[in-house]
Amino acid sequence: MSLRAAPDGFTGVAGVIGDPVAHSLSPSLHNAAYEAAGINWTYVAFHVRRGQAAQAVDAMRNLGIRGLSVTMPHKEAVVDAADIVTPAVRALGAANCLELDSDGRVVAHNTDGDGFVNSYERHGDSIAGKSVAVIGAGGAARSVIEACGRAGAASVMVINRSRDRADSAAALAGDAGCVVEPAGAGKADIIVNATPVGMAESPGMPLDPELLSSTQTAIDLIYYPLETPWLNACARRGLNTESGLMMLLHQAAIQFTLWTGAEAPIEAMLAAYAEKAE
Ligand code: NAP
Repeated sequence: MSLRAAPDGFTGVAGVIGDPVAHSLSPSLHNAAYEAAGINWTYVAFHVRRGQAAQAVDAMRNLGIRGLSVTMPHKEAVVDAADIVTPAVRALGAANCLELDSDGRVVAHNTDGDGFVNSYERHGDSIAGKSVAVIGAGGAARSVIEACGRAGAASVMVINRSRDRADSAAALAGDAGCVVEPAGAGKADIIVNATPVGMAESPGMPLDPELLSSTQTAIDLIYYPLETPWLNACARRGLNTESGLMMLLHQAAIQFTLWTGAEAPIEAMLAAYAEKAE
């Protein structure tokens, strides 16, 4: 049961814009975080139709909405509508987070890639010096590739069925980026599935697990289901495995901190996810 007081004139307002958006887990994660941190904020889902992103960004400025998460189909359109974009957003051409700064300017961030890096590094290990193989070259893959390059990965290998998209994604990691065939994943320290293959609507394996061995770590960005057939097969081969849940929580945690200035209560966010997923 929630012990939070009702919103008042001092309540900080944040939210998520998307179409569709009603299914978003973000309100549960962020509201649980506000409650655990004891701060007077609230987070709601705003249904913003395709083509209306610029109007939503204007509304953010005019209404003083302190932060917005951005989901499909607005991740590209908000970049043009923002006043300031981070270097990562400029490179990616996509943002998943808007912050209203103290001068009333809208700053566009992309927290997905840093969320991936922070989740990997949460136990003290570092991406710096690691070789990372990323399967996929879409929005999630591009964020992870860019952030791993920035975090000092020794190499970032991209495996994707469409070669042109693979080339463009690999370039985001600078000199560390390259495109490889699936067998190249056998040389990586960390293999990341950034395709939807393994979700109910896209069954199958993103990469043959027999190409991998027990010294490697396999991370599936999918978090629904938490255990994909590929992750299970990798675990059976002795690899360390992790679902996309920790990246999801850590990218939300970065947003929480950007907006509120407080440290994110990750455990409370994890508990909120578990309750929602039951
Ligand atoms: P996206 O932009 O549509 O990109 C999908 C990528 O997967 C593309 O490179 C595509 O290849 C490839 N792909 C799709 N179907 C495939 C198939 N059947 N066989 C081989 N390759 C296939 O999607 P996205 O937004 O990047 O999302 C990708 C996954 O990441 C989703 O499962 C999503 O849930 C997950 N995700 C997780 C988090 C998190 O926080 N954990 C955050 C974002 C996304 P082509 O380039 O050839 O089309």
